[in-house]
Amino acid sequence: MTKVSSDIIIIGGGIAGISAAAELARHANVIVLEAEAQLGYHATGRSAAIYIRNYGNAVLRAINDASEPTLTNPQGIFDHSLLSPRGELLIASEEELPTLEAYAADATGLDRLTGAEAARMVPILRAGPIAGAIYEDSAQGIDVDLMLQGYARLFKSRGGRVITNARVTNIERSGGEWIVSAGAETYGAPTIVNAGGAWADQIAALAGALQMKLQPMRRSAAILALGPEHDVSRWPLFGSVSETWYAKPDAGRLMVSPADQDPVAPHDAWPDDMVLAEGLDRYEQAVTVPVTRIQRSWAGLRTFAPDKSPVVGYAPDAEGFFWLAGQGGYGVQTAPALSQAAAALISGGVQVLAPDILAAIAPDRFYQTQTRS
Ligand SMILES: Cc1cc2nc3c(=O)[nH]c(=O)nc-3n(C[C@H](O)[C@H](O)[C@H](O)COP(=O)(O)OP(=O)(O)OC[C@H]3O[C@@H](n4cnc5c(N)ncnc54)[C@H](O)[C@@H]3O)c2cc1C
Repeated sequence: MTKVSSDIIIIGGGIAGISAAAELARHANVIVLEAEAQLGYHATGRSAAIYIRNYGNAVLRAINDASEPTLTNPQGIFDHSLLSPRGELLIASEEELPTLEAYAADATGLDRLTGAEAARMVPILRAGPIAGAIYEDSAQGIDVDLMLQGYARLFKSRGGRVITNARVTNIERSGGEWIVSAGAETYGAPTIVNAGGAWADQIAALAGALQMKLQPMRRSAAILALGPEHDVSRWPLFGSVSETWYAKPDAGRLMVSPADQDPVAPHDAWPDDMVLAEGLDRYEQAVTVPVTRIQRSWAGLRTFAPDKSPVVGYAPDAEGFFWLAGQGGYGVQTAPALSQAAAALISGGVQVLAPDILAAIAPDRFYQTQTRS
């Protein structure tokens, strides 16, 4: 059987794999292997599509910041900003005020609002139970499809190849390169990038590398129609500060998520009816409009490392095996900086992330605490 050779094989055609592919193809011959028939079928195609600078731990906030210039000026990827004005409004009941203070303590660019002000911004909110609110004007919508397709076009224009319907089932190291089997084909390259999303630990196991204890967590969403009297187009994303539900305007309707984070095995996710119903009930208690009809619902997997920071860098125990995983609920907004950082670590060039951030996302942070199984 003939082997298709390249410099780098990227496993996974979500936003992580495709953005890294575009960056790496500048200097290398790169092939992306994607199990599904289309790019972005799993987490990437199911996101809430929002950029929130203050979302996540301190490491993520630094990566969010480093991504913003590319999202607003995506040269080569798209001809105008991938972001659009949205804003984020977080409301707190009396009991949630400590959570609101904790969020605000490490955040920048927030305005404080009263319950009445919050309800003026989103007129369906019940003002009475709101003891405090914060508004982040810099939160913006992301056009995820344009972003993914733009990166894919850039990748192909740099000579890269995407192979879909190519589920990787075997990985071996031989003669200084990785031999990767996908379908009937065999691919060879000295470097592989593991951008397998929820499946990244399984891919590491195939390659004989230590797993990162990545945990996929299911998150669901539903599209609700509101009556014509509600013009949602200028409403911000709004939700409870303790992340028990959130809602985001979506083409004249509302996307509502129970903000569920149930640990599950990697799979093609779908919503659990009970989890969705309970989440919609929490949303319904905060607003004046009853939930009458769900137009559509879906779920996706947000995959976290134990410390909730991404895992980006070479595996210390497997030569040429590069991790690009564990992006959790931030993988779209962090993709520009993480793909640039990954390309600089693999091919050299300008590094966009500071040394302490690179250390905080390096796979070797887990090697002291784990033994091989
Ligand atoms: C409901 C929801 C809301 C979200 N909202 C946001 C948000 O507002 N903003 C934000 O930034 N992020 C958000 N996220 C998170 C974001 O979607 C993810 O972090 C991001 O999409 C992860 O990208 P990825 O490329 O790592 O994973 P994926 O998109 O899942 O891609 C991984 C790919 O690897 C492929 N693969 C796996 N195993 C193999 C194999 N053996 N061989 C070949 N291919 C393989 C899979 O088929 C898949 O296509 C949200 C996620 C969910 C579920």
